[in-house]
Amino acid sequence: MKILIYNEGVHDKEDWVKKVYPKGIHGALAEALSGHDVTVTTLDDAEEVVTEERLENTDVMLWWGHCAHDKVSDRVARCVADAVRRGMGIIFLHSAHLSKPFRLLMGTSCTLKWRDDDRERLWVAAPSHPIAAGLPEHFELAHEEMYGEFFDIPHPDETVFIGWFAGGEVFRSGVTFTRGAGHIFYFQPGHESFPTYYDVNIVRVIRNAVAWAAPIRRTGPLVCPNTAALEERK
Ligand code: ZN
Repeated sequence: MKILIYNEGVHDKEDWVKKVYPKGIHGALAEALSGHDVTVTTLDDAEEVVTEERLENTDVMLWWGHCAHDKVSDRVARCVADAVRRGMGIIFLHSAHLSKPFRLLMGTSCTLKWRDDDRERLWVAAPSHPIAAGLPEHFELAHEEMYGEFFDIPHPDETVFIGWFAGGEVFRSGVTFTRGAGHIFYFQPGHESFPTYYDVNIVRVIRNAVAWAAPIRRTGPLVCPNTAALEERK
């Protein structure tokens, strides 16, 4: 599968993230997706890499961003959202809930509650969903950023994971949507200072999600054509 990983790559240049992700968050995600044809882009080159043509030849995109959402151009954000509507799959990770393309596709504020460093237990809420394949009924992350409800998203197609935090909050941690012909998965774990993307269960979720999000049908331009009748009308 052809995969494009966008990681803004800003925190990754600092020592406190380098010691957890020496090859960047994008490096860890690329390793998690070994066996696929993976391309990586960061904020530094996204303007050149994220083009309509490239996305037409991408099966699934992953998006990680946090502190530089506003540095992503509106052109890139629209290009990604349109590619999803036309059939490209996408996985939004962690703080990508406030990324431009996610908000464009959701149409809501996508705000939530947060707090640094808590223990999280993720519950599989849709055991027969392909993204949950091979996972135990629940699993834990010793350190993860707390994201709590209310999460201002539209009603998801499916809630695959519910996160519970030791501080008492709960969160719809893994949710799916369809927009046009495209599959969207939002997955909450993945704070930059914790080794979340090395966790065996998290890697399994990401690999499952990529398989699930793969395009089934790619559609043409998003237009409203005046169309001829299929039958002769009397
Ligand atoms: Zn975070």
